[in-house]
Amino acid sequence: MIVYSNNKINRAAHLRNKSDKFLKAEVIPIWKENVFLSKDDPSAPAIRLNRNISDDFPMYFLGVEGNVEIWCQDLSFLSIYHACEYVKASTTLPLLDSEPVWIRKAYKVLGNYDSGLVALGIGVSNWNRNNRNCGTCGGLTKMADKGYLRICKNCEKKIYPQFESIVVFLLEHIDKNGIKSCLLQQTPVKNGLLVSCLSGFVEIGETLEDAVKREAREETGLEIKDVRYIESQPWPFPSGLMTGFSALATDKNFTLDRSEVPDAAWYTQSELTQGISNGRIKVSRGDSIARRMIYKWLEK
Ligand SMILES: [Zn+2]
Repeated sequence: MIVYSNNKINRAAHLRNKSDKFLKAEVIPIWKENVFLSKDDPSAPAIRLNRNISDDFPMYFLGVEGNVEIWCQDLSFLSIYHACEYVKASTTLPLLDSEPVWIRKAYKVLGNYDSGLVALGIGVSNWNRNNRNCGTCGGLTKMADKGYLRICKNCEKKIYPQFESIVVFLLEHIDKNGIKSCLLQQTPVKNGLLVSCLSGFVEIGETLEDAVKREAREETGLEIKDVRYIESQPWPFPSGLMTGFSALATDKNFTLDRSEVPDAAWYTQSELTQGISNGRIKVSRGDSIARRMIYKWLEK
Protein backbone atom coordinates (compact mmCIF):
# COMPACT_ATOMS: atom_id res chain seq x y z
CA MET A 1 0.00 0.00 0.00
CA ILE A 2 1.44 3.34 -0.97
CA VAL A 3 2.03 5.51 2.09
CA TYR A 4 -0.46 8.37 2.71
CA SER A 5 -2.86 6.94 0.11
CA ASN A 6 -4.97 4.60 2.20
CA ASN A 7 -7.21 7.25 3.65
CA LYS A 8 -10.54 5.50 3.38
CA ILE A 9 -12.42 7.95 5.59
CA ASN A 10 -15.80 9.04 4.28
CA ARG A 11 -14.96 12.65 3.40
CA ALA A 12 -18.67 13.50 3.48
CA ALA A 13 -18.20 16.52 1.19
CA HIS A 14 -21.96 17.19 1.35
CA LEU A 15 -21.51 18.20 5.00
CA ARG A 16 -18.85 20.82 4.31
CA ASN A 17 -21.33 23.63 3.69
CA LYS A 18 -23.72 22.55 6.44
CA SER A 19 -23.56 24.16 9.83
CA ASP A 20 -25.45 21.48 11.83
CA LYS A 21 -23.15 19.45 13.98
CA PHE A 22 -22.94 15.75 14.68
CA LEU A 23 -23.38 14.76 18.28
CA LYS A 24 -19.89 13.36 18.44
CA ALA A 25 -16.69 14.75 17.05
CA GLU A 26 -12.99 14.11 17.49
CA VAL A 27 -10.09 16.39 16.68
CA ILE A 28 -6.58 15.43 15.56
CA PRO A 29 -4.18 18.21 16.55
CA ILE A 30 -1.21 18.85 14.27
CA TRP A 31 1.71 21.24 14.40
CA LYS A 32 3.16 22.12 10.98
CA GLU A 33 3.98 18.69 9.48
CA ASN A 34 4.03 16.91 12.82
CA VAL A 35 1.51 14.80 14.70
CA PHE A 36 1.11 14.11 18.40
CA LEU A 37 1.41 10.41 19.26
CA SER A 38 -0.06 8.59 22.23
CA LYS A 39 2.14 6.42 24.43
CA ASP A 40 -0.82 4.37 25.67
CA ASP A 41 -2.60 3.23 22.55
CA PRO A 42 -0.27 1.72 19.92
CA SER A 43 -3.26 0.61 17.82
CA ALA A 44 -4.47 4.20 17.39
CA PRO A 45 -1.45 6.31 18.14
CA ALA A 46 -2.52 9.69 16.70
CA ILE A 47 -3.80 11.72 19.63
CA ARG A 48 -7.45 12.71 19.27
CA LEU A 49 -9.01 15.40 21.40
CA ASN A 50 -12.57 15.94 22.43
CA ARG A 51 -14.39 18.33 20.09
CA ASN A 52 -15.28 20.71 22.87
CA ILE A 53 -11.82 22.13 23.16
CA SER A 54 -10.81 25.67 22.42
CA ASP A 55 -11.60 26.81 18.90
CA ASP A 56 -9.02 29.59 19.11
CA PHE A 57 -7.04 27.77 16.43
CA PRO A 58 -8.21 26.78 12.93
CA MET A 59 -10.20 23.57 12.61
CA TYR A 60 -10.72 21.67 9.36
CA PHE A 61 -13.22 18.93 8.63
CA LEU A 62 -11.70 15.62 7.52
CA GLY A 63 -14.79 13.42 7.26
CA VAL A 64 -16.90 11.01 9.28
CA GLU A 65 -16.23 7.67 10.91
CA GLY A 66 -19.64 6.10 11.50
CA ASN A 67 -21.53 8.84 13.32
CA VAL A 68 -18.42 10.67 14.51
CA GLU A 69 -17.09 13.75 12.76
CA ILE A 70 -13.29 13.84 12.44
CA TRP A 71 -11.57 17.21 12.35
CA CYS A 72 -8.00 18.38 12.56
CA GLN A 73 -6.80 21.42 14.43
CA ASP A 74 -3.82 23.36 13.18
CA LEU A 75 -1.61 24.52 16.05
CA SER A 76 1.14 25.79 13.77
CA PHE A 77 0.52 29.38 14.87
CA LEU A 78 1.80 28.45 18.33
CA SER A 79 5.39 27.81 19.33
CA ILE A 80 6.15 24.11 19.59
CA TYR A 81 6.29 24.47 23.38
CA HIS A 82 2.85 26.07 23.61
CA ALA A 83 1.38 23.57 21.12
CA CYS A 84 2.60 20.70 23.33
CA GLU A 85 1.25 22.35 26.47
CA TYR A 86 -2.11 22.86 24.75
CA VAL A 87 -2.35 19.20 23.71
CA LYS A 88 -1.23 17.91 27.12
CA ALA A 89 -3.86 20.05 28.80
CA SER A 90 -6.57 18.76 26.41
CA THR A 91 -6.06 15.01 26.78
CA THR A 92 -5.55 12.46 29.52
CA LEU A 93 -3.35 10.37 27.25
CA PRO A 94 0.39 10.67 27.80
CA LEU A 95 2.38 11.69 24.71
CA LEU A 96 4.83 9.21 23.23
CA ASP A 97 7.48 11.90 22.87
CA SER A 98 7.75 15.23 24.53
CA GLU A 99 7.24 16.84 21.13
CA PRO A 100 5.09 16.08 18.06
CA VAL A 101 6.64 13.73 15.51
CA TRP A 102 7.32 14.53 11.85
CA ILE A 103 4.76 12.73 9.68
CA ARG A 104 7.53 11.23 7.54
CA LYS A 105 8.78 9.41 10.63
CA ALA A 106 5.43 8.92 12.34
CA TYR A 107 3.88 7.08 9.37
CA LYS A 108 5.68 3.94 10.49
CA VAL A 109 3.69 3.73 13.72
CA LEU A 110 0.52 5.39 12.46
CA GLY A 111 -0.37 2.59 10.02
CA ASN A 112 -2.01 3.06 6.63
CA TYR A 113 -5.30 4.57 7.75
CA ASP A 114 -4.05 7.12 10.24
CA SER A 115 -1.04 8.17 8.16
CA GLY A 116 -3.44 8.99 5.29
CA LEU A 117 -5.80 10.80 7.61
CA VAL A 118 -3.04 12.85 9.25
CA ALA A 119 -1.55 13.64 5.83
CA LEU A 120 -4.96 14.94 4.75
CA GLY A 121 -5.13 17.14 7.84
CA ILE A 122 -1.62 18.46 7.27
CA GLY A 123 -2.40 19.16 3.62
CA VAL A 124 -5.64 21.01 4.33
CA SER A 125 -3.91 23.01 7.07
CA ASN A 126 -0.96 23.85 4.83
CA TRP A 127 -3.26 25.01 2.06
CA ASN A 128 -5.33 27.24 4.34
CA ARG A 129 -2.24 28.69 6.03
CA ASN A 130 -0.64 29.47 2.66
CA ASN A 131 -3.72 31.10 1.14
CA ARG A 132 -4.59 33.77 3.64
CA ASN A 133 -4.31 36.41 0.92
CA CYS A 134 -6.08 36.60 -2.42
CA GLY A 135 -3.80 36.07 -5.42
CA THR A 136 -5.85 38.50 -7.49
CA CYS A 137 -6.23 41.58 -5.29
CA GLY A 138 -4.06 40.79 -2.26
CA GLY A 139 -7.01 41.10 0.13
CA LEU A 140 -7.48 38.85 3.13
CA THR A 141 -9.38 35.62 2.56
CA LYS A 142 -11.75 33.81 4.91
CA MET A 143 -12.25 30.08 5.26
CA ALA A 144 -15.45 28.46 3.95
CA ASP A 145 -16.71 24.89 3.49
CA LYS A 146 -14.97 23.82 6.70
CA GLY A 147 -11.53 24.30 5.16
CA TYR A 148 -11.99 23.37 1.48
CA LEU A 149 -12.67 26.83 0.10
CA ARG A 150 -11.37 30.33 0.80
CA ILE A 151 -13.18 33.48 -0.26
CA CYS A 152 -11.56 36.87 -0.68
CA LYS A 153 -13.13 39.39 1.70
CA ASN A 154 -12.37 42.16 -0.79
CA CYS A 155 -13.17 40.90 -4.31
CA GLU A 156 -15.09 37.75 -3.30
CA LYS A 157 -12.96 35.50 -5.48
CA LYS A 158 -13.36 31.82 -4.58
CA ILE A 159 -10.10 29.95 -4.11
CA TYR A 160 -10.10 26.15 -4.21
CA PRO A 161 -7.22 23.87 -3.17
CA GLN A 162 -4.56 23.49 -5.85
CA PHE A 163 -1.73 21.00 -6.16
CA GLU A 164 1.79 21.07 -7.47
CA SER A 165 1.99 18.13 -9.85
CA ILE A 166 5.22 16.15 -9.83
CA VAL A 167 6.19 13.30 -12.15
CA VAL A 168 8.50 10.59 -10.81
CA PHE A 169 9.87 8.26 -13.43
CA LEU A 170 11.96 5.17 -13.69
CA LEU A 171 13.97 5.11 -16.91
CA GLU A 172 14.70 1.63 -18.15
CA HIS A 173 16.98 0.36 -20.89
CA ILE A 174 16.95 -3.15 -22.36
CA ASP A 175 20.03 -4.17 -24.31
CA LYS A 176 20.09 -6.53 -27.28
CA ASN A 177 20.63 -9.48 -24.94
CA GLY A 178 17.54 -8.57 -22.95
CA ILE A 179 19.52 -7.30 -19.92
CA LYS A 180 17.52 -4.59 -18.14
CA SER A 181 19.03 -1.61 -16.41
CA CYS A 182 17.55 1.53 -14.89
CA LEU A 183 18.92 5.03 -14.58
CA LEU A 184 18.90 6.34 -11.01
CA GLN A 185 20.10 9.62 -9.61
CA GLN A 186 22.55 9.13 -6.77
CA THR A 187 23.94 11.14 -3.89
CA PRO A 188 26.90 10.23 -1.69
CA VAL A 189 25.95 9.28 1.88
CA LYS A 190 27.93 7.69 4.67
CA ASN A 191 29.49 4.44 3.40
CA GLY A 192 27.72 4.50 0.07
CA LEU A 193 25.16 6.05 -2.22
CA LEU A 194 21.53 7.06 -1.88
CA VAL A 195 19.63 6.33 -5.10
CA SER A 196 16.27 7.52 -6.33
CA CYS A 197 14.19 7.94 -9.46
CA LEU A 198 14.31 11.05 -11.61
CA SER A 199 11.51 13.55 -11.10
CA GLY A 200 10.29 17.03 -11.91
CA PHE A 201 7.39 19.45 -11.80
CA VAL A 202 4.70 19.41 -14.45
CA GLU A 203 4.56 22.74 -16.23
CA ILE A 204 1.58 24.73 -17.46
CA GLY A 205 0.23 23.38 -20.74
CA GLU A 206 1.75 19.90 -20.41
CA THR A 207 0.31 16.44 -20.09
CA LEU A 208 1.93 14.23 -17.46
CA GLU A 209 3.54 12.16 -20.23
CA ASP A 210 4.92 15.31 -21.89
CA ALA A 211 6.41 16.34 -18.55
CA VAL A 212 8.20 12.98 -18.20
CA LYS A 213 9.67 13.30 -21.71
CA ARG A 214 10.75 16.91 -21.19
CA GLU A 215 12.28 16.26 -17.77
CA ALA A 216 14.15 13.20 -19.10
CA ARG A 217 15.50 15.26 -21.98
CA GLU A 218 16.45 18.24 -19.78
CA GLU A 219 18.02 16.22 -16.98
CA THR A 220 19.76 13.48 -19.00
CA GLY A 221 19.67 14.42 -22.69
CA LEU A 222 17.96 11.05 -23.35
CA GLU A 223 15.04 10.58 -25.71
CA ILE A 224 12.50 8.18 -24.28
CA LYS A 225 9.42 6.26 -25.38
CA ASP A 226 6.70 4.02 -23.90
CA VAL A 227 5.88 6.36 -21.02
CA ARG A 228 3.52 4.34 -18.82
CA TYR A 229 1.60 5.29 -15.72
CA ILE A 230 2.36 3.18 -12.64
CA GLU A 231 0.61 4.76 -9.66
CA SER A 232 0.21 8.06 -7.85
CA GLN A 233 0.72 9.33 -4.32
CA PRO A 234 -0.73 12.27 -2.42
CA TRP A 235 2.14 14.39 -1.17
CA PRO A 236 0.64 17.25 0.83
CA PHE A 237 4.03 18.44 2.13
CA PRO A 238 3.13 21.16 1.38
CA SER A 239 0.77 20.58 -1.58
CA GLY A 240 1.93 17.98 -4.06
CA LEU A 241 0.59 15.08 -6.05
CA MET A 242 3.23 12.58 -7.20
CA THR A 243 2.55 10.55 -10.33
CA GLY A 244 4.84 7.62 -11.06
CA PHE A 245 5.77 6.45 -14.58
CA SER A 246 8.07 4.00 -16.26
CA ALA A 247 9.70 4.84 -19.57
CA LEU A 248 12.12 3.26 -21.99
CA ALA A 249 15.37 4.93 -23.05
CA THR A 250 16.55 4.09 -26.55
CA ASP A 251 20.23 4.38 -25.65
CA LYS A 252 22.33 4.67 -22.50
CA ASN A 253 24.57 7.64 -23.28
CA PHE A 254 23.29 10.38 -21.05
CA THR A 255 24.54 13.89 -20.36
CA LEU A 256 23.44 15.25 -17.01
CA ASP A 257 22.26 18.74 -16.27
CA ARG A 258 24.21 18.79 -13.03
CA SER A 259 22.29 21.74 -11.65
CA GLU A 260 19.26 19.42 -11.52
CA VAL A 261 20.83 15.96 -11.18
CA PRO A 262 24.39 16.06 -9.80
CA ASP A 263 25.05 12.37 -10.44
CA ALA A 264 23.30 9.33 -11.92
CA ALA A 265 24.18 5.83 -13.08
CA TRP A 266 22.70 2.83 -14.86
CA TYR A 267 22.15 -0.20 -12.65
CA THR A 268 21.25 -3.71 -13.71
CA GLN A 269 18.89 -5.60 -11.44
CA SER A 270 21.73 -7.73 -10.06
CA GLU A 271 23.99 -4.71 -9.43
CA LEU A 272 21.23 -2.93 -7.56
CA THR A 273 20.20 -6.01 -5.56
CA GLN A 274 23.81 -6.68 -4.60
CA GLY A 275 24.45 -3.05 -3.66
CA ILE A 276 21.37 -2.96 -1.45
CA SER A 277 22.20 -6.26 0.26
CA ASN A 278 25.78 -5.25 1.05
CA GLY A 279 24.63 -1.85 2.31
CA ARG A 280 26.53 0.22 -0.20
CA ILE A 281 23.32 1.38 -1.88
CA LYS A 282 20.48 2.92 0.06
CA VAL A 283 17.14 3.49 -1.66
CA SER A 284 15.14 6.67 -1.04
CA ARG A 285 12.96 6.98 2.08
CA GLY A 286 10.45 4.29 2.99
CA ASP A 287 7.38 6.47 2.41
CA SER A 288 8.40 7.55 -1.10
CA ILE A 289 6.81 6.43 -4.36
CA ALA A 290 10.34 6.27 -5.85
CA ARG A 291 11.32 3.52 -3.42
CA ARG A 292 8.24 1.48 -4.31
CA MET A 293 8.91 1.89 -8.01
CA ILE A 294 12.55 0.81 -7.65
CA TYR A 295 11.65 -2.29 -5.60
CA LYS A 296 8.86 -3.20 -8.01
CA TRP A 297 11.30 -2.93 -10.89
CA LEU A 298 13.66 -5.31 -9.09
CA GLU A 299 10.84 -7.86 -8.87
CA LYS A 300 10.05 -7.68 -12.60
ZN1 LIG B 1 -9.43 39.36 -3.93
